[in-house]
Amino acid sequence: MKIGLKPCPYCGGIAKGHIKTVESFKKIHNYYVVCTECGASTERYNTEFAMSQNGKFHVLTHKEAIRKTVNDWNNGIFDTKTKLLHMTGQEKMLWHTADLLKAAWYGANVLVGSLRWETAWELRKVAEERKLLSLSSGKDYDLEKVVKVLLDDSHVAELVASYLDANVAGDCKVGNRKADGK
Ligand SMILES: [Zn+2]
Repeated sequence: MKIGLKPCPYCGGIAKGHIKTVESFKKIHNYYVVCTECGASTERYNTEFAMSQNGKFHVLTHKEAIRKTVNDWNNGIFDTKTKLLHMTGQEKMLWHTADLLKAAWYGANVLVGSLRWETAWELRKVAEERKLLSLSSGKDYDLEKVVKVLLDDSHVAELVASYLDANVAGDCKVGNRKADGK
């Protein structure tokens, strides 16, 4: 199959497709495209696990996995690490605040008592006090929108900023060169 990959939108570098096999309880073949210069990367797709597609679960074939990762690359859809690396300060703030709020709202696995846990729950508390979120409403909230309102509050903005100072700044520097984080 002949497929053209666009040059990297971040650095103009040459992109390359990869299939990486990971031994777990069985062999998992991960498909992704990476920039050979800066390490910008698409999400990884595999041909072993079902993924949701238009509401149906489907296991990708080899061809579909290739097509998906190539389409992602050529349409500028990257993995979280790449996106974070290229966000402006403001976009980062929004992203991390939404990430924290999601953890507290959907009950993601977060180490109890950690700064992440405390910050996430403080955000949820503020959101509930301000009636931006309410469990009893049964609504399916758009947390990105909630976060935009929340961040207008200087207390919230400070809370997230200090969380980022303590946690994320360090992580990003270390993680920078290691595109293989997962
Ligand atoms: Zn690049």
